[in-house]
Amino acid sequence: MELSFDGQLVKNHTSALQNKALVVAKELPVPSGAAFQYTFLRHHRARRIRLTVRSDGSVLVTAPRRAPLFLIERFVWEKAEWVREKIDFFKAQPGGLFPKLTGNEYRRHRQAALNLAKQKVIFFNKRYHFFYNAITVRNQRTRWGSCSRKKNLNFNYKIALLPERFVDYIIVHELCHLQELNHSREFWQLVEHAIPDYRIRLAELKKVRV
Ligand SMILES: [Zn+2]
Repeated sequence: MELSFDGQLVKNHTSALQNKALVVAKELPVPSGAAFQYTFLRHHRARRIRLTVRSDGSVLVTAPRRAPLFLIERFVWEKAEWVREKIDFFKAQPGGLFPKLTGNEYRRHRQAALNLAKQKVIFFNKRYHFFYNAITVRNQRTRWGSCSRKKNLNFNYKIALLPERFVDYIIVHELCHLQELNHSREFWQLVEHAIPDYRIRLAELKKVRV
């Protein structure tokens, strides 16, 4: 599990590469006084500076290749409190973000996930107009969602605990399987209609344990 914060678009900056190393561990004093370490990564497809805090407390800063270093460090400085909060949040989760649930808690999450899935499917299907049968939510160990040949959509109850950008991607992914029951180029083009940055979200979601 991880949480991210996106900065402004910086694609228009044309300053020369200022840091050729792709990954460096940096430590920056922050306003609250407590410095934290972060791994810094330049990414050729990145269009924004992004701060990510993982459930193990590690911090990742990704930036477009050409983003000036001062802009990146200022962003980290400005968001230092946010990072602190997220680290504290993860520290307060002994079993991670998906702890073992009691039966009651599970039923509550399941209902929340079902409401969320229905609402999101209706919203995104205004774009696609695909036919579907039932929407169900289950406790799945390996998948976030699935789509059957009978055009039933099924989602993992844990979507109720995910950041919305992941939920949107999962919903759109399964919705597009109503049309393309495969992962062909045509399928990804459908996904891209609603989620232009689906590649980034997919890469991030792969790091989240189901
Ligand atoms: Zn799929």
